[in-house]
Amino acid sequence: MKKIGIIICARYINCGGGKCLRAMRERVGGFAIYPKDEELELVGFANCGGCPGGNVEYVPEEMIKNGVEVIHLATGFVVGYPPCPRMNFFKEFIETKFNIPVVIGTHPIPLKYFETHKKLSFWKNMNMEKTIKHLLDEDENIMFDYN
Ligand code: SF4
Repeated sequence: MKKIGIIICARYINCGGGKCLRAMRERVGGFAIYPKDEELELVGFANCGGCPGGNVEYVPEEMIKNGVEVIHLATGFVVGYPPCPRMNFFKEFIETKFNIPVVIGTHPIPLKYFETHKKLSFWKNMNMEKTIKHLLDEDENIMFDYN
């Protein structure tokens, strides 16, 4: 059993979390790192609070009270135009201050977003091939399925 927290980008504050929860169930995207037979429990779901992400300073503490073991920054951090410029800072901050591992990504990158992003200069400048390699390694049929 692994207890999971999810922080979403506030640009998608009205999102119902459907793709994240589906990916958690299907063990794809950021959740592909867990064995299929390991139970996952969602113990926290929050948004960053809007640029520059003030909630990131506080919500991990609340998730820790519910036993969180891994925090995922939702795929919305990656697929926005532009991607969140602070995601690596958030990852480093949470891992350093709270000692909780952070995974960038929840559901697979929808293929239609990837097709656009990979043509854009800021995608290359942000070194996404390295930052989110685990998401980019996803089978394109699965990415299409999450369009
Ligand atoms: S771009 Fe980053 S800091 Fe801004 S709302 Fe989205 S996650 Fe928060």
